Amino acid sequence: MRSLSGKIAIVTGGSDGIGLAIAQKLANDGAHVIICARNEDKLAQAAADITSNGGTCEHRIQDVSDATAYAAMIAEIAQEKGLDILVNNAPHVGFGMISDTDLQAFQQNFRINMDAPYMGTRAAMTHMSVNGGGSIINISSINGERAMQGMSGYGASKAALLHFTRNAAMEGARANVRVNAVTPGPIMTPGTRAWFNADPDAGQAIAHANPMGRIGNPEEVANVVHFLASDAASYVTGANIPVDGGKTNELYVPT
Ligand code: NAP
Repeated sequence: MRSLSGKIAIVTGGSDGIGLAIAQKLANDGAHVIICARNEDKLAQAAADITSNGGTCEHRIQDVSDATAYAAMIAEIAQEKGLDILVNNAPHVGFGMISDTDLQAFQQNFRINMDAPYMGTRAAMTHMSVNGGGSIINISSINGERAMQGMSGYGASKAALLHFTRNAAMEGARANVRVNAVTPGPIMTPGTRAWFNADPDAGQAIAHANPMGRIGNPEEVANVVHFLASDAASYVTGANIPVDGGKTNELYVPT
């Protein structure tokens, strides 16, 4: 018997990159997975791939920048099918120096990386807390813990998500709704591949500066999300697990 058999999971941004690897991993272990994103062709292909690999998966077109509509989608799925696992993964990665960006660009990071997880958590918790519990996993970033030029909006929104996760965990605990975060370091996905391809030196420098000397892959993040989603993590809530090759733990980079 697979450990997530009978569980219903929603993964935002599940059509590509880390989200797709998470959806595949949860489906491989028996969960029925609903993936959402904006591009329908990519979504349909991802759902078909997961299904052809032996999982069950369906897709919904949902832009999480409309956090109210995203919450309504969650409530509808929970009502129709139930809901045991929610993974808030879909990102907005806003680059730009503070002096070159405006308030709207800054706030877009918060709309997608914080407002959506808040509204998603709210809708999921409402259902899970009267149905025996559940697991909510927020995908933050190493940028939420360490500073970098040009990443003030993205970094601040991912830092906010980490502290929101801790607080939400306190509110869900008595109802067995566990809320945890994962902070990936540099991971090779379509989102980062374009950047590394455009600047191979930067990609190599990032790999070299990592204690493990390499970029991670999406499956390495998905494995940790799977643990948090499963009963193996039944006494884990409010935690943040870095999946970063040791980068956030490092004091200095040896030459
Ligand atoms: P990615 O390769 O760019 O994939 C993003 C996924 O999210 C796609 O499925 C995309 O599909 C969907 N998406 C984007 N905007 C959306 C929106 N407004 N509404 C709904 N879906 C949306 O991203 P990734 O690199 O896998 O990153 C996944 C998560 O890991 C993010 O939270 C990111 O911040 C975090 N992370 C990544 C890295 C890394 O190095 N890759 C490092 C640290 C943290 P559509 O475009 O069709 O909507």
